[in-house]
Amino acid sequence: MTDNIKLIGKDGLRLDGRKADELRPIKIQAGVLDNADGSAYLEWGNNKVLVAVYGPREAQPKYLQNPAKAIVQVTYNMAAFSSDERVRPGPNRRATEISKITAEALENVILTNQFPRASIDVYIEVIEADAGTRCAGLTAASVAVADAGIPMMNMVSSCAAGKIDGQIVLDLGKKEDNFGQADLPIGLVARTGEIVLLQMDGHLTQDEFKTALKMAMEACKHIHGLQQEALRSRYAVNFADMDDGEAEQ
Ligand code: UDP
Repeated sequence: MTDNIKLIGKDGLRLDGRKADELRPIKIQAGVLDNADGSAYLEWGNNKVLVAVYGPREAQPKYLQNPAKAIVQVTYNMAAFSSDERVRPGPNRRATEISKITAEALENVILTNQFPRASIDVYIEVIEADAGTRCAGLTAASVAVADAGIPMMNMVSSCAAGKIDGQIVLDLGKKEDNFGQADLPIGLVARTGEIVLLQMDGHLTQDEFKTALKMAMEACKHIHGLQQEALRSRYAVNFADMDDGEAEQ
């Protein structure tokens, strides 16, 4: 993170025309893959993320099994074509880190103790990346886990706030991430206010940290509504489309 380009204009707007506390547009669709137990597709600005969930199924190899609860295994992957510079295929330190923090966030809400010795496998494929993919991945993964019918207390909603040109802003884009001063991604259980993911890159004062955290938490509450809406549209029964006999069954 360096700050050698201007990221906020004289009009107070950011490079893509957003206000400080404005999110990029988000679209979420649940149940997009036939072969997975649960799935979700999410577009967040120029990020495009596909998530497939399998399980609960017997954890393999057996030494991974926990007799008290299911394990949550997340594989985050950026497609080779997801960025303007080719991403080298295969695992790397960053993908391993994002997989780990995503699994830990989900373990907080999934009722793993109902499925001893099982594994819940979550595959996050980033098809296009434009900063904020860990937040996009975790948000989509929560919808996909719910779509799989896996019991969970609540969904996790995720979003980042950060600092650019000395100002706290929501949901950093790629240039803002590269040339800004700080990035603070969080994962929030919107209903309880519990934070299940908190990372920080760069430097913030205590006051800036509090402002950024509050901004990201508010955004997560909004994102939670979009996640619920995605599940509602997937499972809503349209009684108007049924004939009378079907509707009475
Ligand atoms: N990025 C990339 N290639 C990589 C890693 C990252 O192009 O190998 C880009 C991508 O747009 C990503 C952004 O850098 O979204 C910021 O990456 P970061 O590690 O901060 O994670 P993210 O913000 O995506 O959660």
